[in-house]
Amino acid sequence: MKTALILLLACLASSCLSAQRTCGVQTLPRFVPQHTASVSAREVAVLPVVVHIVWHQPEENISDTQVESQIEVLNQDFRALNVEVPDIHPLFDELAADVEIEFCLTAITRTQTPWEGVSNLFAQGKRRVCHTELGGRDAIDPAHYINIWVAGRSDGTLGSATFPEQAQDKPEEDGLFLRPDVFGTQGSTTPPFNLGRTCTHEMGHYLNLGHLWGSGADNFDCEQDDGLEDTPRQASTYRNTCPAVPPFSCGSADMFMNYMNYTDDACMALFTPGQKARVWGALMQFRSGLLQSSCAPVASAPSLNRTPPRLLGNPAKNVAHLQLSEKEKYEIAIFDAAGRLVLLTRHHGGGLLEIDLSGWAAGIYHIKIKHGAQLHLKKLIIAQ
Ligand SMILES: [Zn+2]
Repeated sequence: MKTALILLLACLASSCLSAQRTCGVQTLPRFVPQHTASVSAREVAVLPVVVHIVWHQPEENISDTQVESQIEVLNQDFRALNVEVPDIHPLFDELAADVEIEFCLTAITRTQTPWEGVSNLFAQGKRRVCHTELGGRDAIDPAHYINIWVAGRSDGTLGSATFPEQAQDKPEEDGLFLRPDVFGTQGSTTPPFNLGRTCTHEMGHYLNLGHLWGSGADNFDCEQDDGLEDTPRQASTYRNTCPAVPPFSCGSADMFMNYMNYTDDACMALFTPGQKARVWGALMQFRSGLLQSSCAPVASAPSLNRTPPRLLGNPAKNVAHLQLSEKEKYEIAIFDAAGRLVLLTRHHGGGLLEIDLSGWAAGIYHIKIKHGAQLHLKKLIIAQ
């Protein structure tokens, strides 16, 4: 409730429409690793990523190329290979750390959803976008893969992510949540969020990093901190600005160009050695499954095999949706409670089939869906 209120206030403050960065993560990570990882005698980690595109409007169904452009940005930013590094202000230029983490893309799934802004919708206490049965897409093995859901939002934020402790509480909803228009560097992205830095920032949260100003919207009393020595305390966020000289607050110069700040994409430039140590500590202690995984494509994962049809929006009133995910032929027959055929239709799948129920009597209906050699039965309830 408190989070919702903060989000609402943040949304009102930024009027929801202006191009200001807002991140849905409004707390600090709970787990602080016992030891920071010894980062000398080991190899660069390559972490496997799966991207779930859950689209409502066709333009949200972004291309493979746009997805790949995001992975490229992550690989530059986490290896300090980004073009901004040579131009970092001299106060901080020695603090740009090579985090020694890379990312590989192992699967892209595509799901059409009847829900607009599905990414931050909840039903029965569950985040819709993370559940196929609720109009989203089930996570793939979140202990071994970083799941990124790319889907529309209606809360005015660009993205959010789960801290490692949330992975333990709710593994099926563990991952990153990004809006399609801030994901990658191509296609539907637009300035100032067209360089893929929202995902870099959210990946920081996923790997246990907090905002430099602590939790909450601002930090004017300088009481809060992200818990790291080499990221100076700061009194508020930086938005829509990229100062030439670092401004001072809380008694020190502000590292406005840190990825865990709120500056525009083009202004972001670095993670620090302290952030790197914290990320590696979290990887070793809480997300070690990622280190035992592989970059082989996961096309054979069970949830990617022929997805069964789903009936969405049941009980229904005027409309129901059948999710027919495979690009194959389906035959749909609907019978009323007395066994009378009321609808027979054939459909080429690959998305949602909308069934117009206006004029149908309330009651129970049975749907038979033939798909190749398979027969699926669904019970449709039309409410009064
Ligand atoms: Zn954030």
